[in-house]
Amino acid sequence: MLVVMRHDATPEEIQGVVDTMEEMGYEARPMPGKQRTAIGLVGNDGKVNADRLESLSGVMEVIHVSQPYKQVSREWREEPTVITLDNGTRIGGSEVVVMAGPCAVESEAQIMDVARRLAAAGATILRAGAFKPRTSPYAFQGLGEPGLRLLARAREETGMAIVTEAVDPESLDLVAEHADIIQIGARNMQNFSLLRRAGRSGKPILLKRGMAATVKDLLMSAEYILAEGNGQVILCERGVKGFDTHTRNLLDLTAIPVVKSLSHLPIIADPSHGTGLRAKVIPMARAAVAAGADGLMIEVHPDPERAMSDGAQSLFPDQFDTLMDQIGTIAQAIGRELAEPVAAAR
Ligand code: PEP
Ligand code: MN
Repeated sequence: MLVVMRHDATPEEIQGVVDTMEEMGYEARPMPGKQRTAIGLVGNDGKVNADRLESLSGVMEVIHVSQPYKQVSREWREEPTVITLDNGTRIGGSEVVVMAGPCAVESEAQIMDVARRLAAAGATILRAGAFKPRTSPYAFQGLGEPGLRLLARAREETGMAIVTEAVDPESLDLVAEHADIIQIGARNMQNFSLLRRAGRSGKPILLKRGMAATVKDLLMSAEYILAEGNGQVILCERGVKGFDTHTRNLLDLTAIPVVKSLSHLPIIADPSHGTGLRAKVIPMARAAVAAGADGLMIEVHPDPERAMSDGAQSLFPDQFDTLMDQIGTIAQAIGRELAEPVAAAR
């Protein structure tokens, strides 16, 4: 439920609504807007006495949020959520943001080499896993904490922000210490204790769609994070399981406009995991930007043939340069622009 205040409501009237909600046993979330303040009521699963709130001084109307994902919905918040990182990158505004890097941090030479090239090409966020959720327990699981420290070094040198995955609640705090954005992977999209923990981390969260999850499932998982008080969530379409073996997954581009209509949260696309094939990444990246994605996540490796994971879908750095040129043109055609490169790379 959302209580919308009149545009001339006083701070005392707003506080009166907050106090009443709390007295009724709920939590109040005031949201100042451009025109007027709205106050979200959370913690209600049943019937709320709307009449009591409606009759308070300064109240314009009470809106019942019909969707089960409440704080995530457009009904709750009409303006898009824009997330600003320490390096100035803004996600969810008019700019298209590119996060790029190898699947995993493998060594200092590998991550520094690729980070420099990506920053020079205009990527503003470096991606790479230090903790890797692998299908096989015998496959490379990531460098762990030393990997996080290498990412921090790459940030220091290039100015790029860091997005990296937390695979369990135990390691999330460690990841939060080093990352600008904490990634929750597809396999963990419905790991509710991890989502709750992410909601309390105070960091922006990149939430990837599970490989068998509906858009509604994705939004409900995001709601777990917002319910803990963290509104900085970026959604990511990374492909769902299909029946055709020509690609690794089926990149659901329709999810982009669907999410945009249902939610105020930014959504990006990951055509690397979405297709699993290097040759398909650039065409689908172009299509995702054209479809309205707020950004892209692209796997790039300095030597994909020797990559310890996901080499077949990793672009060569030269291909990444081409991709950046092309999506810049597409962004412009739909009234957007690529995010400004980070200062060190300009
Ligand atoms: C990744 O980003 O490297 C990754 C493991 O992605 P996903 O969770 O989408 O499979
Ligand atoms: Mn990967």
